[in-house]
Amino acid sequence: MKYGLISDIHGNLEALKKVLEILSEEGVDKYICLGDIVGYGANPRECIKEVKKLKAVCIAGNHDWAGIGETDIEFFNPYAKEAILWTQQELKKRDKDYLKSLPLAKVVDDFTIVHATLDEPEEWKYFYSTYHAHKNFQILTTPLCFVGHSHIPIIFLEKDYCTYSKTSELQLEEDYKYIVNIGSVGQPRDGDPRASFAIYDNEEKKVVIKRVDYDIKTAQEKILEAELPPILAERLAFGE
Ligand code: ZN
Repeated sequence: MKYGLISDIHGNLEALKKVLEILSEEGVDKYICLGDIVGYGANPRECIKEVKKLKAVCIAGNHDWAGIGETDIEFFNPYAKEAILWTQQELKKRDKDYLKSLPLAKVVDDFTIVHATLDEPEEWKYFYSTYHAHKNFQILTTPLCFVGHSHIPIIFLEKDYCTYSKTSELQLEEDYKYIVNIGSVGQPRDGDPRASFAIYDNEEKKVVIKRVDYDIKTAQEKILEAELPPILAERLAFGE
């Protein structure tokens, strides 16, 4: 089975469509979405519609919860807060019902998916260190886990001790456990503005993190037209 994995779309329809084009060309059998479909970008409804069309196995992110008023936005930065208040107005009942239906974590086949961390997923914490990754490895029940949230692709791996790698191609080895952050489709933050996503082939036991250029200019124009904070448009060009 070939899985196409996407995360942190954040209402960026241009990035999502380009990524889905590539995943379809790659002959993906099943789609997985790691949350944050909405927030920041100008097309939250359209992105939810695309994810639903894929019949993707999807979990909730903090912006999805914020979009339906399920999480406190007090700690969101001012731009994120403004964007989420705008998103709350944009979403129709059917969009909110969909976001509400999403679980926080799930085991699919031989891997686990969670937006933030396995310990207290509803706290939306970040993996800052191998120390924190190690804590998550201790509660991980599958050899592999996919996460999003930080918008920065990185792979944590553990056998006798925990370490990390920035490689984009990972051949899984027995006795190892892996937590793979697949980066963000709609708002990359690792200095590379290209959309980030992943493919997992569970027969070849291989994970590939991919990047693709998309129509950033149109995504930016839509953000400005919607009168969302201009910085949300600007940052897309820098991947920050
Ligand atoms: Zn996000």
